[in-house]
Amino acid sequence: MSNIDLAKGNLYVVSAPSGAGKTSLLKALISQLNTVETSVSHTTRAKRVGEKEGVDYYFVNVDEFTQLIGDGAFLEHAEVFDNFYGTSKASIEKQLDNGIDVILEIDWQGARQIRQQLPQSRSIFILPPSKSALRQRLEGRGQDDAKVIENRMLAAKNEMSHFNEYDYLVINDDFSTAVDELKAIIIAERQKIERQQKKYAYLLSNLLD
Ligand code: GDP
Ligand code: ADP
Ligand code: 5GP
Repeated sequence: MSNIDLAKGNLYVVSAPSGAGKTSLLKALISQLNTVETSVSHTTRAKRVGEKEGVDYYFVNVDEFTQLIGDGAFLEHAEVFDNFYGTSKASIEKQLDNGIDVILEIDWQGARQIRQQLPQSRSIFILPPSKSALRQRLEGRGQDDAKVIENRMLAAKNEMSHFNEYDYLVINDDFSTAVDELKAIIIAERQKIERQQKKYAYLLSNLLD
């Protein structure tokens, strides 16, 4: 188990097959809700057009990634689509300590590692409304070539088969409905007694005095 403290900020894992819309949904969610951020992962995959170092990912080569594993820098790491991806401990610790709810956009293998390390974290799975919608979104994004899209469609079935390991399921059919459902999960988690008792310790002792 990890000694990362989730008392101030909570940790969420969000997984979905590539193209289901998780990046767009989380971007919209973060713009609508205070004190929630995504974590920036390290990856060995090539940068897509428009992606920025330190914003979308920290882009590293395989040697650098291996070195980081050796240094114990990752809370979790996994191989996805022939590339390595990992969440570094240091960056999320800082966010959580500042009272930020942190969202990890990671695959099911990483989600399993996080659940084991931090059982108090919450996990959310996002599904597309159909296989054809998933293909359309991958093609419509215009970022990956035909072979990459084919690989991602094949991998989608495997990724989706893990949905029932998660705490919550959101179907991304109508975009703004899906954003509202994600918001509802985070807002409800914030009102849990354990969390509120710590946040409002002064008020509670005063009221019950
Ligand atoms: P980019 O990095 O700015 O290109 O972001 P995305 O391609 O992920 O999406 C751009 C923006 O479009 C997002 O911030 C969403 O708010 C919005 N968006 C994406 N898909 C949909 C959709 O299907 N419906 C609606 N209403 N908005 C969408
Ligand atoms: P992911 O991060 O899961 O790979 P993206 O957020 O990049 O997926 O979304 C893939 C594509 O699907 C993007 O072009 C996005 O605008 C589009 N998209 C996302 N949500 C919806 C939706 N509800 N309806 C239609 N298109 C969507
Ligand atoms: P993409 O290359 O489309 O940004 O992401 C591909 C896949 O890698 C997605 O399923 C995404 O969830 C996963 N992924 C991204 N970052 C991480 C990470 O830090 N750890 C793990 N385990 N998976 C990740």
